[in-house]
Amino acid sequence: MKTSLAFPIRKTQHSHLAGTDFSNLVFGKTISDHMFVADYRNGEWSDLRIEPYAPMQLNPSNAALHYGQSIFEGMKAYKNEEGEILVFRADANWSRMNESAERMCMPYLPKEIFMEGMTQLLDLDRDWVPSAKGSSLYIRPFMFAMDDYIGVKPSDTYRFIIFTCPVGNYYSKPVSVKVETKFTRATEGGTGAAKTAGNYAASLYPALQAQKAGYDQLLWTDGKTHSKIEESGTMNVMFKINGTLLTAPVNGGTILKGITRDSVIQLAKDWNQPLEERFVTVSELKEALENGSLEEAFGTGTAATIAHIRLINIDGKDYELPGKTSDAFSYRVLDALDGIKYGSIADPHEWIIKI
Ligand SMILES: *Cc1c(COP(=O)(O)O)cnc(C)c1O
Repeated sequence: MKTSLAFPIRKTQHSHLAGTDFSNLVFGKTISDHMFVADYRNGEWSDLRIEPYAPMQLNPSNAALHYGQSIFEGMKAYKNEEGEILVFRADANWSRMNESAERMCMPYLPKEIFMEGMTQLLDLDRDWVPSAKGSSLYIRPFMFAMDDYIGVKPSDTYRFIIFTCPVGNYYSKPVSVKVETKFTRATEGGTGAAKTAGNYAASLYPALQAQKAGYDQLLWTDGKTHSKIEESGTMNVMFKINGTLLTAPVNGGTILKGITRDSVIQLAKDWNQPLEERFVTVSELKEALENGSLEEAFGTGTAATIAHIRLINIDGKDYELPGKTSDAFSYRVLDALDGIKYGSIADPHEWIIKI
């Protein structure tokens, strides 16, 4: 491993690796031993370090807690047959984080700090990357305001942290979703394209209502007319209608630019799978469900990669989707992405970084 950035590494005296049951991992509950930290003050990133994962002190007047200047990323590392660590498309997460940062008036984070911080953290905690089939190490980089100041303005100081969580086989059973036509996740001119904390807080209430009504999650529609499908829960969403793969375009500012979405689109292009990046309307979806032309519907995101949708509720009516065979596009693309991530098939787009 080439190291171009040197910073102090303080190792834990109390590793809890040996006491961790890797066969019973709950997503997001088990945190690895160390974290990478950098602080932004006086207009520059400084005090880079790796230290034991531990509680940190914040003043009650910390600006992020009050006004939500806080952004995050999520990606995964995998172990291949040789025991090497493979990270999937982390450079894309780095550039997306800087897009979120710009929208939230937060500072640019140089690529070297993001990638070297992550690489050296993964190298130190490499035994935390699970090797069981289907499991991986979830990587959570995030940045938040550090000013102690009660007043609405961009903070002058920030902290950037990366920590990691070993996660088990994220097999998601096919989900039921409800088309949401009252609440809004994102609207043109808003913050929907940024991975910023407040978006997720605002989605909790509508999601809970849907769960109380018996659905796993929501299909969000546009904020203006509630007639166009945007995303599914915290995933991008794709439909295959009459042989064509359809997904919302990401240039309007309301759709999160998913890296899984982008990877699925790339593979669809490689395979000459007909594809259109355009909005699917609720009425078009309803018609396709009624006349049987909706072949597949699935969410895409880092946690599950592909989350198959088995049922869609529109205007109070439940529509079941047809059962799928393993040659369905969504299964083939899941297999291919898994193959690339675990290093068992070729990586033609150079998505993998080896550590
Ligand atoms: C993170 C996220 C996604 C998926 O992005 P990936 O890079 O594929 O993990 C989709 N929608 C929302 C709202 C998200 O926050």
